[in-house]
Formats: sequence, structure tokens, C-alpha cells
Amino acid sequence: MSRRRVSIFGATGSIGQNTIDLIARDAQAYEVVALTGASNIAQLATDARRLGAQIAVTAEARLLPELRAALEGSGVEAAAGEAALLEAADRPADWIMSAIVGAAGLAPGFRALRHGATLALANKESLVTAGPLLLQEARQHGAQILPVDSEHSAVFQGLVGEDMAAVERIIITASGGGLRDWPIAALANATPEDAGAHPNWDMGQRITIDSASMFNKAMELIETKEFFGVVPAQIETVIHPQSIVHALVGFNDGALMAHLGAPDMRHAIGYALHYPDRRDLPVARIDLAQLATLEFYAPCATRYPALKLARAVMEAGGHAGCVFNAAKETALDGFLAGRIGFMDMSGVVEATLDAMSSKIGLSNAVETLEDVLQTDHMARKTAWTAIEHHEKEAR
Ligand code: NDP
Repeated sequence: MSRRRVSIFGATGSIGQNTIDLIARDAQAYEVVALTGASNIAQLATDARRLGAQIAVTAEARLLPELRAALEGSGVEAAAGEAALLEAADRPADWIMSAIVGAAGLAPGFRALRHGATLALANKESLVTAGPLLLQEARQHGAQILPVDSEHSAVFQGLVGEDMAAVERIIITASGGGLRDWPIAALANATPEDAGAHPNWDMGQRITIDSASMFNKAMELIETKEFFGVVPAQIETVIHPQSIVHALVGFNDGALMAHLGAPDMRHAIGYALHYPDRRDLPVARIDLAQLATLEFYAPCATRYPALKLARAVMEAGGHAGCVFNAAKETALDGFLAGRIGFMDMSGVVEATLDAMSSKIGLSNAVETLEDVLQTDHMARKTAWTAIEHHEKEAR
């Protein structure tokens, strides 16, 4: 049997490493085409050697000599820079993991779709900033996109064999993040260390803070609208502190189908890797009697202002998702740099959406990937201006 050709973009990150864990367990079944990373050259080279990759690419051109040295004698090609990432996406592969963080993940994903590959999509920024374009690219080239975000994988699994016309609503759950039980008045003084501790999931610092502010859930609401083609009124979110139920799909006969699983990203990654089959995965099995209680409650709008902003973004469509993503990333940079407080991030995002609405008209359709990158750039500059304005006001 021929081996399955796979590439992993963002191989050195949390999703990338979980993907490699699954592939390495059955290494003879896969031919690893490309592995990419950015700053973590040692990890990239170790995995490329171990899996016998064709090519290893770092996004950082200045690190090429280091990567070359680390791969010497291995037979693995080394390359660096944005053009090399695109060239890696051009290499024939059957399955590609899109797990670069941020807007940098957009272009390689688009490129991979052009070749008809199956794109396992962890990079949520692709759908939020350029959802309609991405889906159109996939349709045009007969390529498939499979969701890797755990909530969207759960919804996707709940829809197998179902008719979308019978879907009334989609409910995605949220843990509520590390500050869930803090008094609201105390949130203004939360530090990055406070917000960077997650009760259930083991993830990077940025996505963990986005979980505490629910900017991550806000992104996922927008992703849900884009990927499943439902209207905003059909999408709900509910706080579920145990993170066992990842999402639910409600049908027109009143049935609510829930997806339960341990909080381990290897489930969603493994489902996308083996789809449409199910294979044995090394994830913990749920013991319901042991769990005993599963709680659900509505999120508080004052505690999580990001959710209201997500609703406005979904209604606006067009460039709004791109502006939202760029603004929330910049606001997080401002928070991490100590320039704004935890609860100021939503104010910066709202001010950026308002300012960009006057500049470009948020609802105008996004025509090209270049449009997206241009809006992203402009929105980041606008968000920094909002941060500076906030600092002046606070003095
Ligand atoms: P990480 O920060 O752990 O990893 C990011 C990866 O992208 C690393 O390989 C990193 O390289 C690489 N990278 C960073 N900057 C660039 C750049 N400018 N160009 C190219 N590559 C770059 O992120 P995660 O794995 O946590 O998340 C990846 C994506 O998946 C994100 O979009 C996230 O929202 C999404 N996601 C993550 C989940 C999770 O559980 N972690 C769950 C669901 C979705 P290096 O490390 O070598 O610098």
C-alpha cells in the first residue's frame, strides 16, 4: 500500500507536536513531505530527521544557516523564508496540517488548497479573516477542509449523515478560562500570569489568555458561521467548566447531539487525519460515573465583552473578521507589554472596529488574499493608535 503524503505547517507548535505524536506512532504509514517552523530550529531538525522529511522550512530567513547545520548529513533539504513556505505548500501531499499561528498561516493554506490537498485547519485566523475566500478556493480546486479546532471538529462529527436544513442551532462550549471565578471588579488588575493559566487545556500563552478573555471563543463563533454556513442567530455559546462536552448540534425535531471527549487535541487532529474512518487514538476515555457532574451556564456579558463584539463582526461580515483578529492580537500585545489592562483589550478592539468601519467600510466583500493582508496591516496600525489613546486617557 502506498504511504500517505503529509506536510505539517507549524510543526514545532502545540498542534504541530500533537500531530507529529500521532504520525510517529505509525510512521511507516506516512511519507512526510514538509515540516515547517519558525524560531525552534532544534525541534524542527530533530523531527525532520526522525520522520525522514523531504524538506524542513523555517519562516525566519536569518536562521537558515542554523537549520542547515542541524540537518547536515540527514538528507533532509533545508529552506527558509516566506517564499520557501509557499514552495513547501506546492509540494504534492495528500494531507496538510495548517497549524501556523496567526495571519502568517493564511498564504500556505491557500496554496495547499490550490493543489487539491486535504487541509486540516487548526489556524482559525484563516476562517475568521478570509472564510468565504478560503472555502471558494477549496471548492474551485476540489479540495477538502477539515476542522481541527476541538469545538468545530465536534460539530463536524455531529453533522455526519445529517441534512444541514434540519439544523436549528449549534452550541459551542467554553471553559470560561483561568479567571472564570474571579470577581468582575478584580479583572481590571489581572496580569498575563493570572490569565495565562488554563484550568483544563494545555496550550500556548496567547491562546490561553484569549481563553480567559473569551476572545478565543469569539473567534470560534465567527469560525462556526463561516465554516458551517449558518446565520449568527443559530450559534450559541455556553460555559461548561469541565471541558468534556465540546459542542452540541440542535435539530428541528428537538434533538440535541453532544460530542464528549477528554480535553486532548489529539482527538480532533486524529479525526481529521483518518477521516472518514475512525481509528484507535491515544486519548483518555471518559468515565461518566467518575465525572459525576457536568455543568453548563450562560456567559456573563460584562465579564466577557468579546462575545458581543463577535456578534457585531458576524453581522457585518466582509472585512470585519480580519479587523477583529488583527485588533485582538494587537490588544493582546498591548496587554502583554503592560500598556493596557486585561479588561481594556475589548475597548481597543471595539475602537479599532469603529475606526476601520469609517476608513474602509467593514461589510465590503473581501475579493483577494492581498485585500486581507492589507486590511490586517491597516487594522494593526489602527489598534496601536487606540492603545496609545487609551494610555493618554489613563494618565
Ligand atoms: P503555537 O504558538 O504553539 O505554534 C505556532 C507554530 O507556528 C509554531 O510552529 C511556530 O514556530 C510557527 N510560527 C510562528 N510564527 C510564524 C510565522 N510568522 N511564520 C510561520 N510560522 C510561524 O500555536 P498552537 O499550536 O497553539 O496554535 C496553532 C494554530 O492552531 C493557531 O491558529 C491556534 O489558534 C490554533 N488552535 C490551537 C489549539 C491548541 O490547543 N493549541 C486549539 C485549536 C486551534 P516556532 O515555534 O518554531 O517559532
